[in-house]
Amino acid sequence: KGKAVIELGAGIGRFTSELAKTAKKVIAVDFMDSFLKKNEEDNGHMGNIEFIVGDVTKLEQPEESLDLIFSNWLLMYLDDIEVQALFQKQLRWLKPGGHLFLRESCRQQSGDKKRGANPTHYRDPEKYEAFYSSVSQPCDSDNIYGYDLVVSKSVDTYIKLKNNQDQVLWLIQKVKKDKATNQGFKSFQEFLDNKQYSSRSILLYERIFGYTFVSTGGVETTKEFVALLNLKPGQKVLDVGGGIGGGAFYMSKNFGVKVTSVDLSSNMTQIGLQRAKEAGVSCDQVQFEIADATKREYAEESYDVVYSRDTILHIADKLALFKKFYRFLRPGGGKLLISDYCCSPGEHSEKFKAYVKQRGYILLSPEAYGKTLEQAGFVDVRAEDRSTQFANILKSEISKTEAGKENFIADFDEDGYNSIVNGWKEKLGRVETGDQRWGLFYAEKPS
Ligand code: SAM
Repeated sequence: KGKAVIELGAGIGRFTSELAKTAKKVIAVDFMDSFLKKNEEDNGHMGNIEFIVGDVTKLEQPEESLDLIFSNWLLMYLDDIEVQALFQKQLRWLKPGGHLFLRESCRQQSGDKKRGANPTHYRDPEKYEAFYSSVSQPCDSDNIYGYDLVVSKSVDTYIKLKNNQDQVLWLIQKVKKDKATNQGFKSFQEFLDNKQYSSRSILLYERIFGYTFVSTGGVETTKEFVALLNLKPGQKVLDVGGGIGGGAFYMSKNFGVKVTSVDLSSNMTQIGLQRAKEAGVSCDQVQFEIADATKREYAEESYDVVYSRDTILHIADKLALFKKFYRFLRPGGGKLLISDYCCSPGEHSEKFKAYVKQRGYILLSPEAYGKTLEQAGFVDVRAEDRSTQFANILKSEISKTEAGKENFIADFDEDGYNSIVNGWKEKLGRVETGDQRWGLFYAEKPS
C-alpha cells in the first residue's frame, strides 16, 4: 500500500493491474513492445503506471528508490551471469527494508533444460538461493546490505490444481547486516545450513533419532505428544521448524490433517521433500516452506494447531513468536504444542554457558517458558519439566546406536559415529548435572 513498485517482465499486465491497485506508483518494464502496448491499453487508465519498453538486464534505476521489485517468470529466461548481475543491481535499487518478489518454474526432471530460441532455465531452487545470498552492497564500516529470506515455497494454486510443486516463489528483503553477527555467516539461514544442519549432520542426527526425525524421541514422543491434540481430519497444522518432516508426515497420515512445515534450513527442506516422496506423502498433505518463523506471517486465525519440536531454542524473542502463534490460531480451542530444550533457573556452569553460546541457543527454564506463553495470551498453559524422560530417551538412543555401531560406520564413517555418540553422552551429562532441561508445553487460545 502506497509503495513504489517496479515490475520486471510485466508482459500484458496480469500482475501490473493488481500491483497498481494499492501501490503509489508502478513502473512496468518489458522488452516486448506489443505486450506492453496491450498492458497500457488495459491498465493505463489507472494513472499510476509508467510503461518502459526495455531489456531488464540493461535497465538502471536510482539507488534506494523502490519498496518492491516484482517479477513473475523472468529469471528463467536469463542466464546465470545475468541473474546474478540483476540481483546485485536490484539490491542497490531497493530501499533498506524493501522487498524482492520472484516466482519461477523450477527443477523439472530434466534439470537445467534449455529450449529453442527462447532458452528456459529450469533451475533448482537452491540455485536462486545461492545467487541472491552471494550479493552485497557496502553500507558502513560495520555493516553491509544483503538479502534475507522471508519465505520460499511452492505456489499454492499449482499444488491445489495440478499437484505440482515446481512453481516456486520467493519473498526476500534488503536488510542491513552486522558483519560480526551469525558467527561470520551472512545470515542466520547460512549459519544453520553450514554449521549445525549441514546435510551430513542432518543425516547423522536422523540416524540416531529415527527415520524422518531430528528431535528427541523420534516417532515415540511424536505419538505421545500428538495424542494430546485430539486432531480431526481436515484440520490445519503449522509445524514450526518442521525439519525433515517426520512429525508432519505422522500427523497427516494418521489423522488426515493438512500440515504446513516451515523451516529456515534449506538443507532440511531438501531432505524433507525427498522423504515425502519416499513416504508417499503429497504436497497437498504436507507443504514445505523455507522461511524464518520469526518473520513469516500467516492469515489470522488460519490454523487449528501450532506444533513445534525442539526448534524454538534457536529463537531469541520467544514472546514475539508466541504472540504470532496466538494470532495464527483459531480462537476457542486453537492448540499449541511445543517441546524444547530448556535450562535450569539461576546460574549455570561455565561449560554449559560455553555450549549454549557455541550453538547460538537462547534457553529459558520450563517455568519461565510457561509464563511467556501466558503473557502472549494463551490459557490452560501446561509447562512440564520432562528432563527425566529426556535422560531416559538419551540413554536408550545411545545404547541402540552403540548396538548398531558396525552398520552405522558402514553407512557413514567412524568420525560420524563418534561425533554422535560422544555428543549424546555430553548432552546426558548436562542433563544429569541439572543445567540442561527439556520442557513440554501445551496451551490453548481462548474464545
Ligand atoms: N521439528 C523437527 C523434528 O522434530 O524432527 C526438527 C527439529 S531440529 C532440532 C530444529 C529445526 O528448527 C531445524 O530444522 C532448524 O532449521 C529449524 N529452525 C531454527 N530456527 C528457525 C527459524 N527461525 N525459523 C524456522 N525454522 C527454524
